[in-house]
Amino acid sequence: MSGSSFKVNRRDLEFVLFEQLDLDAFQHPAYAGYDGELYRTVIAEASRLAEETIAPLNAKGDAVGCRFEAGEVRTPPGYREAYQAFRDAGWTAVVHPQDVGGQGLPVSVALACVEIFTAACPAFSMYPGLTAAAANLIRERGSDWMKSALLPKLISGEWSGTMCLTEPQAGSAVGDARTIATRDGDSYRLRGTKIFVSSGEHDLTENIIHMMLARTPDAPPGIKGLSLFVVPKFLLNADGSLGARNDVVCSGIEHKMGIKGSSTCTLSVGDKDGAVGFIVGREGEGIQHMFLMMNEARIGVGVQGYAVAAAAYDAALRYAKDRVQGTRAEEFKDANARRVAIIEHADVRRMLAISKAQVEGMRALGLWLAHLGNLWHLDPDSAEGQKNQDLLEVLTPICKAYCSDTGFDVTRQAIQVHGGYGYCSEYPVEQYMRDAKIFSIYEGTNGIQAMDLLGRKMARNGGMSFMQALQWVNERIEKLEGAGGFDTEVGLIGKARDRLGASAMHLSGLGMAGDAGLPMFHAYDVLLLFGDVVIAALLAEQAALAKPMLERVAGGVDLSNPTARRSLLESNDEARFLAGKLDNIRVFASQVLPRTAGLAHIIQSTDRTALDAVF
Ligand SMILES: Cc1cc2nc3c(=O)[nH]c(=O)nc-3n(C[C@H](O)[C@H](O)[C@H](O)COP(=O)(O)OP(=O)(O)OC[C@H]3O[C@@H](n4cnc5c(N)ncnc54)[C@H](O)[C@@H]3O)c2cc1C
Repeated sequence: MSGSSFKVNRRDLEFVLFEQLDLDAFQHPAYAGYDGELYRTVIAEASRLAEETIAPLNAKGDAVGCRFEAGEVRTPPGYREAYQAFRDAGWTAVVHPQDVGGQGLPVSVALACVEIFTAACPAFSMYPGLTAAAANLIRERGSDWMKSALLPKLISGEWSGTMCLTEPQAGSAVGDARTIATRDGDSYRLRGTKIFVSSGEHDLTENIIHMMLARTPDAPPGIKGLSLFVVPKFLLNADGSLGARNDVVCSGIEHKMGIKGSSTCTLSVGDKDGAVGFIVGREGEGIQHMFLMMNEARIGVGVQGYAVAAAAYDAALRYAKDRVQGTRAEEFKDANARRVAIIEHADVRRMLAISKAQVEGMRALGLWLAHLGNLWHLDPDSAEGQKNQDLLEVLTPICKAYCSDTGFDVTRQAIQVHGGYGYCSEYPVEQYMRDAKIFSIYEGTNGIQAMDLLGRKMARNGGMSFMQALQWVNERIEKLEGAGGFDTEVGLIGKARDRLGASAMHLSGLGMAGDAGLPMFHAYDVLLLFGDVVIAALLAEQAALAKPMLERVAGGVDLSNPTARRSLLESNDEARFLAGKLDNIRVFASQVLPRTAGLAHIIQSTDRTALDAVF
């Protein structure tokens, strides 16, 4: 089996976009002339490119990786051609507004495309992904010169972008960065070392625009002393053409467990005369600007988590239908019993059903957050806009951390479904798992995300943002209740929501009493608990939407008759898809949500042994 067997789950993407987010009815002057039909065509075209051109790179890129030769980085064979095809078809512009030369699509549609390309080959998708984030930062915060000279080249994909925060002593502690920027007329000279820079050097574009954090000589310590600079690999002549090579040089690349086709570079900055950099905004505003890029990238990493998980689940499902092993449990004593495909075994069904619910729930989260961000930007000042921003802020660390960790779990289960073959490179799932591990580490480790969630986001607006999230959950529970037939699930989600509320109250009480250690010790547990509740709410909403649709598709078929139902689902793809939505909430509520009881118990335990232990 090769990467070329990769298939996009278009029906589920379209279900979230058109049934759950109701994009057919989404009207705004910014999207004049666009409609659901166009969005469906975009998804179909992205899927075609991903399946035919990008997915075949995945295993090959993993086998060869990037090569470092005398300061230059060579991407794996096929990357350059695929990147050219990607650019030619305008995909680098898909996430940008029309007024700057982008396609101007709703953000949720653009993010659906990002998922499609990422699932096909996460390493390849890193290059346009970081470029898009750099372009957005310049569009929002850059000078007029940056907007006219750099932005069009980034949007067209002619040049690419990076984000350079990390230094050897400054990983999670970004404020410990030591790269120095000294004023030199209208520009600055930067000197230091940046490490782990994704796409920091490669052969896909002729110029690279580094978005680099550095501190000016008199700046205060910590993050408040950081400023943001644009540091091009090649400086520009007055007419905009490429000029001299800037003093920023790749001195090596990392050899990694996954995403091997994505270059991870050490950059020596300013070893000769100092690298020329141009400040974004003013001195000391660096972290504030960089956060714009980081918030967007955090949703993007959540998308990476579920995109790779979706590909892994799909591979596991196909394998489980093909692989024949053993007999049905009821017949295990009969040596001559019929041998069955492993999908008939209860334990395999457990792994597949849970993975499916998780993947589809996470996809709903990513696309919904993209839509929320879209609504907020279109109408930032109204009460509704404010509410959208609040929800987005609270849920961004959950999207990043929950989707990356759960996505990794799904890839792990996909290997398990494959048995020994899953451990071997003949099948794609071991690569999916290796690729997926980085998502929990970069863009702020998941531990840092959890602390951000508990320490900042849940406390935002005196806790009002958190209350809004709970209210949003309640509305979804009511929808499921209204659909009828889900009393058990409604009860289970309600209990999980109450556990989240009680856990938050408990930790907030500790915080108010001056205990910072215990709340932070449990921050990750809170993130998991919160994530489970949010995913359950999204799956509940999907089930409430799917139930009447299934009844319509079923026509006169009696869905309460197991034989009639099975025969319908086996012969009708749409009925099977919709029934899967009802199964998802049942599986998630019964097999995943009960762990929230354990999490709440852990969070409310006052044991401090680990904090005080002498290791
Ligand atoms: C493949 C790859 C690509 C990358 N791409 C980029 C890029 O494009 N640009 C860029 O700037 N960086 C990039 N990074 C760097 C990445 O963002 C950092 O590795 C990450 O932020 C963690 O920093 P660190 O590795 O120094 O780990 P550390 O900060 O040393 O963390 C180690 C452990 O300690 C924990 N920890 C640290 N501080 C705290 C704290 N205060 N409280 C609780 N726990 C804490 C962490 O959660 C983690 O578990 C990349 C890294 C990799 C491996």
